[in-house]
Amino acid sequence: RVKTKWAATSPKLSATDLALQNHDVMYNMQLGELWPSVRVGLLTEQKYGALVNNFSCDDTVMYLQSLGCQDFIASSLHMEGSKAADSVIPPYSESLQFDQPIEGTYTDLTRASISPNVKCFVFPKGDISRFKPARPDSCGYLSYYLMDAASVLPVLALNVQKGQSVLDLCAAPGGKTLALLQTQAIRFLWANDWSGSRMSRLQRTLKSCLPSELCSEDNLCITSLDGRKWQEVGENGTFDKVLVDVPCTTDRHSLVEEDNNIFSRSRTKEKQSLPLCQTQLLLSALQAVRVGGEVMYSTCTLSQLQNQCVVEQAMSLAKEELGISAEVVDLQPFTALFQDTFYFAPDMNVGVMVLPHLTANFGPIYFCKLRRLS
Ligand code: SAM
Repeated sequence: RVKTKWAATSPKLSATDLALQNHDVMYNMQLGELWPSVRVGLLTEQKYGALVNNFSCDDTVMYLQSLGCQDFIASSLHMEGSKAADSVIPPYSESLQFDQPIEGTYTDLTRASISPNVKCFVFPKGDISRFKPARPDSCGYLSYYLMDAASVLPVLALNVQKGQSVLDLCAAPGGKTLALLQTQAIRFLWANDWSGSRMSRLQRTLKSCLPSELCSEDNLCITSLDGRKWQEVGENGTFDKVLVDVPCTTDRHSLVEEDNNIFSRSRTKEKQSLPLCQTQLLLSALQAVRVGGEVMYSTCTLSQLQNQCVVEQAMSLAKEELGISAEVVDLQPFTALFQDTFYFAPDMNVGVMVLPHLTANFGPIYFCKLRRLS
């Protein structure tokens, strides 16, 4: 009898192969009949959005329209307005919360709460054209920034109001930080990321898009700290809004990129400790936000373990160990506005998720908003 020599004879799987194996097992269970179509989307080239840089001197909107693109934010808001019989589109209000129990339909309130300053252009559904990389305009600023259009949603749903202070706890390389700054509503932004090299990228991005006066010490603080130890900074209970866009298994990236892949065998321990790290980061965010303020937790994975389970675990630990209670904010009225652009996962109990789809190949992006109650 010949003894099989496993270690020597079995082919060595690459990190991307291991990622696909993991996704097939986990997401087949989690998504059931939706998985085959999400899988095809994940394995196919991702679709980008062009976040307009309001500080550019060029007429970027006209240029992007000439390509046949649409601002998915503006068009979603107008479309809903004409569809809803009871709607008179109220102007953007800098003091509205879209889940406030005041008069008007939820759709009206949601639409009114969305910043008109954030513009993100996408090619129409099914159109797989690509944007050219942005070049500096006549003033030296980039006219747009390319990112997954679904990544703009957590920023929009955070609903930053005029004069608020915002902490972006895991900010690099800076796509969402830039989107936050495009609202032109923030009084003070603290952008932090543990990785110094990624933070340098964020600084380069901000420099290439924003006037220097916007990046003064009074408006912007940039640090490279371990977000899990935020309480040591001494800025607890102070921020109006906190975005915590945590490290995760980056499901799309891990299927195509060998370099630095979280599924490589050398990173097994790190991968296994992700849910703990994510929970600690969300706990930090809940400590950093003021009572009545809001935290947006987001990832780019489909994994329930890194999404809903982390949110539930952090909420329970926050209550038991820190005496902080929080509630999940209903984002259904928000996602209803964007369902013509994105494919949202059905039947989510906690948070919302954009699923990749061949006709709208954005995401995956999971986001969940928490309001601190005590
Ligand atoms: N928000 C970013 C954007 O939109 O460009 C992407 C953030 S990325 C998903 C997650 C980030 O978390 C990485 O840049 C990583 O360096 C950072 N990170 C990982 N562990 C961290 C920690 N303990 N504290 C702070 N940042 C951390």
